[in-house]
Amino acid sequence: MKLYELTIHEAHDLLKRKEISSKELTGAVLDRIEAVDSKVGAYITVSRESAIEQAEMADREISEGKMSALTGIPIAVKDLICTQGIRTTCGSRILENFIPPYDATVITRLKKAGAVIVGKLNMDEFAMGSSTENSGIKLTHNPWDLVRIPGGSSGGSAAAVAADMCLGALGSDTGGSIRQPASHCGVVGMKPTYGRVSRFGLVAFASSLDQIGPLTKDVTDCAILAGSISGYDPSDSTSVPKDVPEYTSYLSEGLKGLKVGIPKEYDAAHGLDPEVSLAVKNAVKVMEKLGASCVEISLPHTEYAVPVYYVIAPSEASSNLARYDGVKYGFRDKEKKSLMDMYRSTRSKGFGAEVKRRIIIGTYCLSSGYYDAYYKKASQVRTLIMRDFNKAFDICDVIVSPVAPTPAFKIGEKSDDPLTMYLSDIFTLSANLAGIPGISVPCGFSKGGLPVGLQIMGKHFSEEVLLKAAYNFEQATDFHKRKPEI
Ligand code: GLN
Repeated sequence: MKLYELTIHEAHDLLKRKEISSKELTGAVLDRIEAVDSKVGAYITVSRESAIEQAEMADREISEGKMSALTGIPIAVKDLICTQGIRTTCGSRILENFIPPYDATVITRLKKAGAVIVGKLNMDEFAMGSSTENSGIKLTHNPWDLVRIPGGSSGGSAAAVAADMCLGALGSDTGGSIRQPASHCGVVGMKPTYGRVSRFGLVAFASSLDQIGPLTKDVTDCAILAGSISGYDPSDSTSVPKDVPEYTSYLSEGLKGLKVGIPKEYDAAHGLDPEVSLAVKNAVKVMEKLGASCVEISLPHTEYAVPVYYVIAPSEASSNLARYDGVKYGFRDKEKKSLMDMYRSTRSKGFGAEVKRRIIIGTYCLSSGYYDAYYKKASQVRTLIMRDFNKAFDICDVIVSPVAPTPAFKIGEKSDDPLTMYLSDIFTLSANLAGIPGISVPCGFSKGGLPVGLQIMGKHFSEEVLLKAAYNFEQATDFHKRKPEI
């Protein structure tokens, strides 16, 4: 087996037994990036030198017997999480040359755990999108079929994990951006509960929805990475002071007694591909065989998730993105003489079409006279969606569904049709609106050989239950063992 093919926990065992060094492992991953990323396009920045330094440091720690589950493990990071001294573009021309003066809390935690940061990954500009085609920097291709999208907005993260260009990655999820690319690339991805992971140093998109989470090769790795980034942070006022369970210790508990909710509304969802529907139904059967029992549940406000999200997210984005004015940092159009001209031209040239569309929609929804009709109304309906989940969780422990209605589509297929793209978020948005955790785990392949993911959602702060359910399913199947040929 090649070193770059290892999972985090496999590499940890070899490092611990001193059969490999972090320098060898990191070197193998950096060579792998060199060999295949010209085809995939997952990385915006590869931090070769600092990665090698961090690997050497990790090797020293290991030789002194100081070791965490992530010591010496090469991890890559979505390019909207601030990394001190390493360019953080957010997939946007407006931040193309922005080098943060500080680390995000999740990066501080990873470094403390001894992880090696190998680079920054491509994404839709400001995390707005479902295909990574909205990146202002480059295109990313799905490792399973290079003419297809990897999903988005954490498309670079999912593609890098799938193509073995890192052992694990961080992404962010505002409406599905970890789970959907994980599903399209055949890897595991989890959006933790809102408040579980600090967002200090995460470039804000929609502050009431954003959450950072892991993308990994298997569920065990997901539990390890999630555990290391979770926990209270006084620098993020939305972070919750609650102990983080040792996630890995729950994995091998069985599924006996687990109540799995199947939402009756989801089968009729717009554009649900029969192959995806079948893969999810088969997954439920596997869970039943493992001892879980199924109940039908109802989430009656599901049809409003897309319109509610596409009012709330652009509104918050329009406010968050006001800071990119060419004055404080980032791109500035220096040709313009007056202040107003400079603002206008900087933002016109710096932002791409989708970001502008959302700023315009959001500004409209928040403007005086319209606020009540749009943002306030959407927030009220959001409460109804939350209540649907609370009610459902009275009778079940987890809810399962597809992640995306179809497997990965072709590059260019939907880029001229934002509405179709928005509608494909139907299964993932609700978890963000309700603040609950959700995980995507590989559950099948289409006839064309494209991966399909199963979504498992749970109550607030029940990540260990999701991980346990996903792990049991994974161990009973072998979808996670298949690799793309690249
Ligand atoms: N696809 C959704 C959007 O375009 C979700 C993005 C995300 O989770 N960052 O907004």
